[in-house]
Amino acid sequence: MIVQINHDQCTGCGTCEIVCSLKHYGVINPRKARIKVLQNPVEGYFYPLVAGPYTDAACSYKNKIILHGREYDKCSFCNASCPDRPFFKEPDTGIPLKCDLCGDPPDPMCVKFCVRDALVLVDSEEPDNGEEEIAEPFKPVF
Ligand code: SF4
Ligand code: SF4
Ligand code: SF4
Repeated sequence: MIVQINHDQCTGCGTCEIVCSLKHYGVINPRKARIKVLQNPVEGYFYPLVAGPYTDAACSYKNKIILHGREYDKCSFCNASCPDRPFFKEPDTGIPLKCDLCGDPPDPMCVKFCVRDALVLVDSEEPDNGEEEIAEPFKPVF
């Protein structure tokens, strides 16, 4: 199962970050969340990213990505815990953070509390409507 992201529905409210840190640490601290809502306040869009696998080196992927007329940098659709990333590391210890779907069986708090349905738990590893999914280190879907 995966958390599928419908980023056009995201308002940037940050609830997903809050409930994720509450679930795993018992505190409200988005820096301890396994989900990060990237924001571009100028263009007014929000893009939730769920923490994926750990990598101990940054990759060499350097291209810009154009999607729906917007330009994204090389890391925008990558969910890795990577040395190039300031987030997806536990702030006190530096331990990489990875989404655990909130347990086994999956019970994702972020999905449960996202009132916009920007996050949806789906069975398939393939996106069912062309939106991005979060299982691989770098796997944009256009
Ligand atoms: S809770 Fe939903 S709408 Fe709010 S920031 Fe997270 S993904 Fe976006
Ligand atoms: S965050 Fe992802 S895309 Fe960016 S350097 Fe690291 S592994 Fe590469
Ligand atoms: S599924 Fe759970 S661990 Fe993963 S980002 Fe959502 S709240 Fe955090």
